Amino acid sequence: MCEIFRENIMEPLAAHAVTEVVSRGRRHAEPAPRGRGQFQRDRDRIIHSTAFRRLEYKTQVFINHEGDLFRTRLTHSLEVAQLSRSMARALRLNEDLAEAVALAHDLGHTPFGHAGQDVLDDCMKAHGGFEHNLQSLRIVDLLEERYAGFDGLNLMYETREGILKHCSPANARLLGEIGRRFIDGARPSLEAQIVNLADEIAYNNHDVDDGLRSELITLEQLDTVAIFAQCRREAEAQWPGLEGRRLIHETIRRMINAMALDLIAATRANIASAGVETLDDVHRAPVLAAYSEDLSLKLRELKAFLRDKLYRHEQVLQTINGARRIVAELFAAYMAEPGQLPPRHQARAADGKPRAIADYIAGMTDRYAEKEHRRLCGAGGF
Ligand code: MG
Repeated sequence: MCEIFRENIMEPLAAHAVTEVVSRGRRHAEPAPRGRGQFQRDRDRIIHSTAFRRLEYKTQVFINHEGDLFRTRLTHSLEVAQLSRSMARALRLNEDLAEAVALAHDLGHTPFGHAGQDVLDDCMKAHGGFEHNLQSLRIVDLLEERYAGFDGLNLMYETREGILKHCSPANARLLGEIGRRFIDGARPSLEAQIVNLADEIAYNNHDVDDGLRSELITLEQLDTVAIFAQCRREAEAQWPGLEGRRLIHETIRRMINAMALDLIAATRANIASAGVETLDDVHRAPVLAAYSEDLSLKLRELKAFLRDKLYRHEQVLQTINGARRIVAELFAAYMAEPGQLPPRHQARAADGKPRAIADYIAGMTDRYAEKEHRRLCGAGGF
């Protein structure tokens, strides 16, 4: 994306970007950081957090032990951060904020990807449910224990707002100020909107790559998907006779580029046509970060392909069933015997056992969940 950097490298932030001056700040007052900005400090706090390091051993689509080359939540988060920074810079938005939100966006994910979150939500039905976006916020606001003066990481309001991508109205009401926009129908910053779509660009593309690598999907199948076929033709036109891994990567990097450039152009056009000038305008406008209509259709086709051919592949579903059972049985085991929780979590359970158990399980890596399951429930993992 060098053309993006060339045209934007020294330009000042747009008037509708988030800055420290317009920020709503931190919940607990702290002296300003020295030698770095407030949002850089947020990024640094996220990178140094325990929950961030655990992302290395959490599943994206493929279970952690299935191979060393597949994406994990950590590498996914790094790809989202890279895309978010590039697109934020092109749009003259606050790159540091976009990066912080991107690095934190999956902190609340349970072990075993969406399967783990769904089953934990089922277990928590009668106790307020479980939402991974809300859990990410809970981690940075409450669960990280790193500072003497406060719980959590005490991040800037706008970083927290970006992390809380979705939220049910019931939970939004419990959250106070940070949940307000889900009740009022207001939009988050453009930085947060960009990260949301960078997430989508990252996973759609790396799932194609991991899907091919795992041989659960094939190049022939992918040729039925317009955007893949188009980018493959472009790669082959430039490099006749190209094949194997290089062909796949040349195709995927063209897809990523096409999506990012389309998003930048369409978002710029939306900002202009909505007459957005200030950050307040962004909050009041409809969602501004978007693809063109043509690319939206192509992306929808690619997503439908991945859903049918990869996420619902028999082999993926099998591991999902194993994962669901592990999380459900772990939850039941701790509910029956809270004494099995580590002392720190037992102390939290005094204020509400199911939530303390959900926090503990959500924080586990794939392999730690399997180990605890073996210890508490005997043999029979995957
Ligand atoms: Mg993600």
